[in-house]
Amino acid sequence: MLEIRDLHVNYGAICALHGISLKVEQGRIVTLIGANGAGKSTTLRAISGLVKPRSGVINFESHNIAGLPAHVIVGRGLAQSPEGRMVFANLTVLENLRMGAYLRKDREVSKDLDYVFSIFPRLKEREWQAAGTLSGGEQQMLAIARALMSKPKLLMLDEPSLGIAPILVRTIFDKIVEINKTLGLTILLVEQNANLALQVSHYGYVLETGKIILENNSDALRANAEVRAAYLGG
Ligand code: ATP
Repeated sequence: MLEIRDLHVNYGAICALHGISLKVEQGRIVTLIGANGAGKSTTLRAISGLVKPRSGVINFESHNIAGLPAHVIVGRGLAQSPEGRMVFANLTVLENLRMGAYLRKDREVSKDLDYVFSIFPRLKEREWQAAGTLSGGEQQMLAIARALMSKPKLLMLDEPSLGIAPILVRTIFDKIVEINKTLGLTILLVEQNANLALQVSHYGYVLETGKIILENNSDALRANAEVRAAYLGG
């Protein structure tokens, strides 16, 4: 579904991605793990059109989308739940969800609202509440639900565990698996919590200072001595 080849991204003189290549097959959860500053968010931002690659190919359903504007990329079926959630704080939960469906012209928006409320009942209870008053975990649910409201073919999640109470982290990861299973939705997950990410994903890539240093089935990565020592606490 998604194939990245030799992607380079610079921020001015800083080279954040030094020619990475990766694939995401339809229906799978693929994760990108790595330390702070490895380039995980930059990869997602390049796919989403939020930063322009210096060079390289980003094929989504066999079309190169590298460098297209973000709204065009959303229209093609790629949605991102960004790091730090970035909900519209002054809008209600429902208004945030409707913003997710902004580009849609079909008549299934209400049906999809029902779906996201069934996945995240906590959001239904808080439908009329300003998003800025939700807890961190609830805002994370909202950011994922808002991305789902664009009816994506590929959902990208940037650090869904960041800054969230541990009890809610497990719930959110269970929901990610549920969304993948019930909708068959393809997911690209960026996470610093490598342990959790490798538990819920099918395949993983390890990113280190802008380069992919390892890739394999997630179970194999979890068993890999190098990965265990560097990312899974030994
Ligand atoms: P984190 O988990 O901390 O978000 P990350 O793996 O997502 O880390 P990126 O945010 O992609 O890493 O950053 C990759 C590199 O690019 C880092 O060296 C970072 O300092 C640099 N970088 C990121 N954003 C910018 C920016 N807007 N301007 C300049 N440099 C940036």
